[in-house]
Amino acid sequence: MTGLNDAVAVVTGGGRGIGRVVSLLAAGRGFRVCLGYVSDAGAAEGVAAAIAAAGGKAVAVRCDVAQEADVVALFAAADRLGTVTALVNNAGVVDLPAPVSEMSAARLRRMMATNVVGSFLCAREAVRRMSTRTGGRGGAIVNLSSIAARLGGAGQFVDYAASKGAIDSFTVGLAREVADEGIRVNAVAPGIIDTEIHASGGTPDKAAAMGPGVPMKRAGTAEEVAAPVVWLLSEEAAYVTGAILDVSGGR
Ligand code: NAP
Repeated sequence: MTGLNDAVAVVTGGGRGIGRVVSLLAAGRGFRVCLGYVSDAGAAEGVAAAIAAAGGKAVAVRCDVAQEADVVALFAAADRLGTVTALVNNAGVVDLPAPVSEMSAARLRRMMATNVVGSFLCAREAVRRMSTRTGGRGGAIVNLSSIAARLGGAGQFVDYAASKGAIDSFTVGLAREVADEGIRVNAVAPGIIDTEIHASGGTPDKAAAMGPGVPMKRAGTAEEVAAPVVWLLSEEAAYVTGAILDVSGGR
């Protein structure tokens, strides 16, 4: 049995936005961090370098979570770093605003492949390593959902909202499936958070525009989402599983 100090957190999409801050906070809590990226190698390498500069250990690995071989390679890299005890299924995409009547099959397949299938594949690899039933030492998985799962995204991104609805069901189901194998599974459901995801969805000013409509009258920050994610990974959340925690300023 290896010591606790070689615990590895795998963070998909760990180079930018919420995933970047999760990676940095996890390293600060003593995790070695295996962070994935798909397009922005520079950002991911920068996060890994910042962790190393602070005395931690991290590796940045190119991994399109929709590609099974990439996911297998990501976890192989994590194995070289230490013992995987945490996974944050953070990688996610939105698309340009469109009604369902205009959504192509290619758009729908990309959305579900990235946001849903990618999370399943990463969780599969994590459970295989963590399960106490197969000799692992347990662990925690946190999925990034969205309050869009209950709001629905009408007229703009019903596909994205549905992908996050799937993440909610996945969270509850997997949590119950592996609850007696030493693995906790939870989700964080952010509201409007100020990251680059809105620009990638064709609405770069979305956080500023929608902030005043939030009960707390502002958009949230990546730090305000990453902190509860890292808390859910910690022993402080030892009896929390199957939970979906809104981090949405009351929306
Ligand atoms: P972001 O700033 O756009 O960052 C997205 C990250 O996901 C990037 O690191 C990107 O990698 C990675 N990524 C995208 N497609 C990928 C793929 N196919 N395989 C692997 N990685 C991929 O987004 P964010 O705002 O931080 O969002 C993070 C998570 O929170 C997502 O699941 C999102 O749905 C959820 N969320 C965000 C908000 C919000 O308002 N921001 C609200 C609710 C939920 P590269 O850096 O290499 O491009």
